[in-house]
Amino acid sequence: MAQKRTLNGGGGARLLKEESDLMVIRPLGAGQEVGRSCIMLEFKGKKIMLDCGIHPGLSGMDALPFVDLIDADQIDLLFISHFHLDHCGALPWFLQKTSFKGRCFMTHATKAIYRWMLSDYIKVSNISTDQMLYTEADLEASMEKIETINFHEERDILGVRFWAYNAGHVLGAAMFMIEIAGIRVLYTGDFSRQEDRHLMAAEIPAMRPDVLITESTYGTHIHEKREDRENRFTSLVQKIVTQGGRCLIPVFALGRAQELLLILDEYWSQNPDLQEIPIYYASSLAKKCMAVYQTYINAMNDKIRRQIAINNPFVFRFISNLKGIDHFDDVGPCVVMASPGMMQSGLSRELFETWCTDPKNGVIIAGYCVEGTLAKTILFEPEEITSMNGQKLPLNMSVDYISFSAHTDYQQTSEFIRLLQPTHVVLVHGEQNEMSRLKSALMREYEANPKVQITFHNPRNTQPVELYFRGEKTAKVMGSLAVGEPADCQRLSGVLVKREFKYHLLAPTDLSKYTDMSMSIVTQKQSIHWPGSPVVLKLLLERAGGPGSVVEVPVPEGSTATARLRVCDCIDLMADGKIVTLEWQATPVNDMYADMVMACLLQCDIAGSSVIGTRMSKVDEKHYQDCLIETLQELFGEQSMEKFIDSDRLTLTVRGKRIVINLQTHEIECDQDEQLYQTVYMTVRKLRQSLLL
Ligand SMILES: [Zn+2]
Ligand SMILES: [Zn+2]
Repeated sequence: MAQKRTLNGGGGARLLKEESDLMVIRPLGAGQEVGRSCIMLEFKGKKIMLDCGIHPGLSGMDALPFVDLIDADQIDLLFISHFHLDHCGALPWFLQKTSFKGRCFMTHATKAIYRWMLSDYIKVSNISTDQMLYTEADLEASMEKIETINFHEERDILGVRFWAYNAGHVLGAAMFMIEIAGIRVLYTGDFSRQEDRHLMAAEIPAMRPDVLITESTYGTHIHEKREDRENRFTSLVQKIVTQGGRCLIPVFALGRAQELLLILDEYWSQNPDLQEIPIYYASSLAKKCMAVYQTYINAMNDKIRRQIAINNPFVFRFISNLKGIDHFDDVGPCVVMASPGMMQSGLSRELFETWCTDPKNGVIIAGYCVEGTLAKTILFEPEEITSMNGQKLPLNMSVDYISFSAHTDYQQTSEFIRLLQPTHVVLVHGEQNEMSRLKSALMREYEANPKVQITFHNPRNTQPVELYFRGEKTAKVMGSLAVGEPADCQRLSGVLVKREFKYHLLAPTDLSKYTDMSMSIVTQKQSIHWPGSPVVLKLLLERAGGPGSVVEVPVPEGSTATARLRVCDCIDLMADGKIVTLEWQATPVNDMYADMVMACLLQCDIAGSSVIGTRMSKVDEKHYQDCLIETLQELFGEQSMEKFIDSDRLTLTVRGKRIVINLQTHEIECDQDEQLYQTVYMTVRKLRQSLLL
């Protein structure tokens, strides 16, 4: 039930959600898979989406994360970690084709490259126009909805505090730290703790997160050393081209391509015998992308920044751009880097199909491959492959896999967790088996260490992880209340102000200084019909409020009121004719007293004099007795009355019949004569009524 309310609840449950200690983390994509990263984070009524990618192995609507399970218009914030399609590929669709009206953030470099990256994706997508999720125009229109954030710049929107750390991985890649009501969640996106030729290693946040949502792409694998990997790569390229073959390196247009270009350009410059062999970087985006890379040199590592002072490392000596297959003169050995990285379609696919039948040629898969893509398929060395037009082609070229993808490996992930010590780790962005192996390995690490309690989660897509954070609620005392030093057991009272998720205790007079609120006094006034005398009114209220609760005060000058009473020290009561008006300052306590007074008056008005009862003041009792004796003597003659009147009873004899009136209870005893009894009863009653009301 709680889950349903949190995920689907409407505005009515707003308060409940804000007060709830339940945090829900739910992958809509990247749950036990790599691709279409999209994770929902919900806490204290805030809904945040982390990444909005597509699945590179699927197309059209199938490639989207499970966004139909959420209400796009309920999402407050959307963070994009980096420009890879599996993290931002669905963004133009989400921004343009859904009811999303929240705010979307990414770093400057990510935004610059996102534009070109997705434009390329639209061009190379091998699907019909009606299956396309969005057009170039949609992409263009989405640009103005994206806001940028600098690394380490802190923002605070709707009570959600957030900032970005460098994630390594690719240029502009960010890890987002999100703080809601004092609870911090770190989303790593894709990250790498290893510095390479141009990127810095992911930063270690100085602040400990309570929850870490981390990628688990490489599971328990441990990367080979950078130098070994580079040597293996350059030797392999050299081997293929020197045997007269073509070397195909499918790459993402941006990201790892730049790292490989830096390696190849350096290797060619050190090996003059290779310099005859051309290296092509075949991406329509190459030029634009290079401009972006040159612009964001300051977001890269120190090595590159030092180098730029001498010459621009991104101006390559041995690499030329290739606009497309039409401009390519396929005459002999060469190295071609072409996108897309997983050869789903586009130039890398075309070249692969042209070259795959010749055993002299070779393809080097340099990055992570998603299930369902051709790059992943050929890693299992099939004898033949199916071309884009359905033809079967024998696979004779060599296939090698050297991972250059800048994702964290087991050592890096484990160290990262050890340094941050979050209470919960949620694994995403990892193939099911890799992820569960990683989870078990991490759990084993902490089993033997009772001092550190970390819970690991690996949710499937759409499966919510529910975490409870029982935060102690504290209020900060501010203003005049905070002037003196606090003493032990000192009670403080003031106005409790809740701002976003923080509480402040303020003196009412300080409200306007620290908040945009001010204090005003509400005076309540209520008038009611009252047919009785002020004396009875006072008696009645004394009976309800206790002795001393009613004080007579002078009627203000110029007022037509006949009496003024102060009740319970907070209510002003004015009797004017048959109307009584109550006036008081509204507070919860005063309102209660006012209610009591009103209830007395209303009850009395409805029930008449009978409810007044017997508690009269001494003076009024005496007056009543005198009047009663006088009236009875007038009725039945002076001789009817007994000479001696005791304080409780009045005895008289009429026509030889004895009548006793109890002055305390007003009961009348007259056994022998019913008519006489009625006469006396009516006399007593009328007298009381006329005297008291
Ligand atoms: Zn990535
Ligand atoms: Zn990714």
